[in-house]
Amino acid sequence: MDYYKPEQLEQWDKQYVWHPFTQMRQWQKEKPLIIAKGEGSYLYDLEGNKYLDGISSLWVTVHGHRKKEINRAIIEQLDQLAHSTLLGQANIPSTLLARKLVEITPEGLNKVFYSESGSTAVEIGLKIAYQYWQQRGEEKYKTKRKFVSLANAYHGDTIGSVSVGGINLFHKIFAGLLFETVNAPSPYCYRCPLHLNRESCTMDCVREMESLLADHHHEIAGVVIEPLVQGAAGMLVAPEGYLAGVRELCTRFDVLLIADEVAVGFGRTGKMFACAHENVKPDIMCLAKGITGGYLPLAATMVTDEIYQAFLGEIDECRTFYHGHTYTGNPVACAAALANLELFARDQLIAGLQEKIAFFSADLKRFMELQHVGDVRQKGLMAGIEIVGNKAAKEPFAIKYNIPHRIVLEARKNGLIIRPLDNVIVLMPILSMSLAELKRLLDITYA
Ligand code: PLP
Repeated sequence: MDYYKPEQLEQWDKQYVWHPFTQMRQWQKEKPLIIAKGEGSYLYDLEGNKYLDGISSLWVTVHGHRKKEINRAIIEQLDQLAHSTLLGQANIPSTLLARKLVEITPEGLNKVFYSESGSTAVEIGLKIAYQYWQQRGEEKYKTKRKFVSLANAYHGDTIGSVSVGGINLFHKIFAGLLFETVNAPSPYCYRCPLHLNRESCTMDCVREMESLLADHHHEIAGVVIEPLVQGAAGMLVAPEGYLAGVRELCTRFDVLLIADEVAVGFGRTGKMFACAHENVKPDIMCLAKGITGGYLPLAATMVTDEIYQAFLGEIDECRTFYHGHTYTGNPVACAAALANLELFARDQLIAGLQEKIAFFSADLKRFMELQHVGDVRQKGLMAGIEIVGNKAAKEPFAIKYNIPHRIVLEARKNGLIIRPLDNVIVLMPILSMSLAELKRLLDITYA
């Protein structure tokens, strides 16, 4: 690539690029951080400054940046074939990857539908669930047209995935475009919507879900849930047993469980998939982010045979799933995913994570001593530190002080990239980080 001066690129970025989830007026006032290179756990900007990547790029990087094995797999695939459609054709990497995904995901998920992002993986899960009930045959199931989702949930930003989202800021403007969902309380234990606390928790949120499903199951197609941790909500870690409780309710009330493992999948929680912590077998599972180890856009929606069967029929029966994107099952992205999964096995990544998680969890405790830290939540190698103005009253700082943003900028000056989510500082270390790098991440954040 040609060399461009940093000032030139900054100017063109401000002139031409519209950044996601970004107030562009504010962006125009700040010096943009332009990342030019990655290596292992580090990112480098145009001026050569080095930053520890504390958010795995955007919760995607698994084995580090510029991992030679993944680079090589991509190049080898490019030497064979860059694109071929899955409409009426198949390709080698997408076939091999589907087989591998079926092998490693919870039992029963035997079919893979590809797409390109977490949002589309969820969108597809919703459409499949909806069409499934329409095609089950029995008249009584035809009324199952709504979804239950949790308060504070984030499932992406396409219209369907926003519809099942619970973050008001993201969806209120689109209210007229969204479909109706039934909301269940979020397991936000620090600010329990049912006024319990962690010590007195009797998981009444599961009971709330129970009464909701008891009343509405005839119109509910599925419950959409981020297993164990509501990530974008601020790393809300559900109490143990919550996920298994929701699974039991879905089975009892004939409702599909759609597990959105986009953020928590691929080792993030300490097991390959979060559902495994409670031995939960969802009916539909949505995967993206870590699927290619952070290299190329790819997503997968996995379903059970029972769901798949409902889509089989003669051509004129119109039971087909009419959905698919131009890049669905892209061979280069699938080759990257296969290389990513091979590294999981070769490096025994999941086994190696346990020591890092124990260290991460223990070292995070010191943050609770800080005057403005209200809560620290962690599962595996993901954590949220909730900042408050008044600890006793759990009162957030006024937005105008922009405290989380200031913390993040300060960390950047000290060589660490992290990001806030509202009042929560998110830490999402790369799974391959060493103990020393994890300590550095926590030390800089603490300071
Ligand atoms: N689902 C969850 C749980 C997520 O955390 C995200 C993104 O953060 C998404 C879906 C959307 O993924 P994407 O940004 O790849 O569309």
